[in-house]
Amino acid sequence: MSTESATIKYAEDIPEALYHLRTIENLSITAGCTGVNYSACPAFLSYPDSILSVRRIVEFKQIIKTERSIEFGAGVTLSQIENLPQKFPKVLHDAVCTIANRQVRNIATIGGNVCTQPMKMTTFAPLLALNAKLVLRAGTERMHIDKHHPSTETQILPLSQFDAVPAGYFLTRIRVPLEEWDVSIFKRTGPKNEISPLSASYVFLSNTQKNFLADLRLAFCGVFSFRNRELENSIIGSKLPLPQKSVQTFTEKAAAYFDEDVKEGTYNPVLRAQFINLVKESLETLTD
Ligand SMILES: Cc1cc2nc3c(=O)[nH]c(=O)nc-3n(C[C@H](O)[C@H](O)[C@H](O)COP(=O)(O)OP(=O)(O)OC[C@H]3O[C@@H](n4cnc5c(N)ncnc54)[C@H](O)[C@@H]3O)c2cc1C
Repeated sequence: MSTESATIKYAEDIPEALYHLRTIENLSITAGCTGVNYSACPAFLSYPDSILSVRRIVEFKQIIKTERSIEFGAGVTLSQIENLPQKFPKVLHDAVCTIANRQVRNIATIGGNVCTQPMKMTTFAPLLALNAKLVLRAGTERMHIDKHHPSTETQILPLSQFDAVPAGYFLTRIRVPLEEWDVSIFKRTGPKNEISPLSASYVFLSNTQKNFLADLRLAFCGVFSFRNRELENSIIGSKLPLPQKSVQTFTEKAAAYFDEDVKEGTYNPVLRAQFINLVKESLETLTD
């Protein structure tokens, strides 16, 4: 990036950020800058010559909890989540505590973690499993992401439909439904506290009702993003404890769905083997 030609703006509030997005073409957003400066996996800026820093926006740092959901401003730091008194949603909290080190977590934001491309970073799988939604805002009212829902300037997008922040938009909030889970498992593959092509996050959630499996969620994200509701539904409703045979059948099914959804050759095969082991291990918590 040539600093002579670079336009660097600092927004103090959301209207100011929207104004810059409206008036400056091809603007890239930065928050804590720990992703864009991270040599192990740099989050490249789409337009490195025009940068908008959103880290000063006060609304961005707010965490709002209601009975049914918890909403994180995109600029909430990983330390803020780590220090939440209730330490939940558990899988998200567990994931955050494994990221980098305390110094980095003090400035790195959850928004930056979710928006990093092309790798899905450590909080992606927990948020995907928890059915998180992203609140995206655009500088102009004419832009839209989803043809079926003609837009205003705000778009609420399930994380399952999110690929990258569209040009002209920025992430303002992440909405996470609050649900109780009987089993909540978060695991990481690859090196500890850093990112490599072998890094992936795994989440398993399950709920039991009267000896039946009432709900199950499974997400595995790294250089890919995997969650399949059809796979999850195929075991929901099973009687508990699960027989070993069902563990075996479901694990094989999970591998087959993974192969169908994640293109071979785009990831290190070690990740597939780790995924299969993790699924088997998690399901065994539901056996005798
Ligand atoms: C030593 C070290 C270890 C690390 N280990 C890990 C790890 O274990 N796991 C992990 O997940 N990460 C790790 N990281 C990477 C990084 O710290 C995190 O991913 C962090 O959450 C990024 O947040 P940030 O605020 O610094 O994002 P930034 O670097 O500011 O931005 C990252 C990307 O997100 C985009 N972006 C940021 N905010 C918004 C927004 N509001 N709207 C639209 N786009 C936005 C930017 O354009 C950029 O592309 C590590 C970094 C370092 C330096």
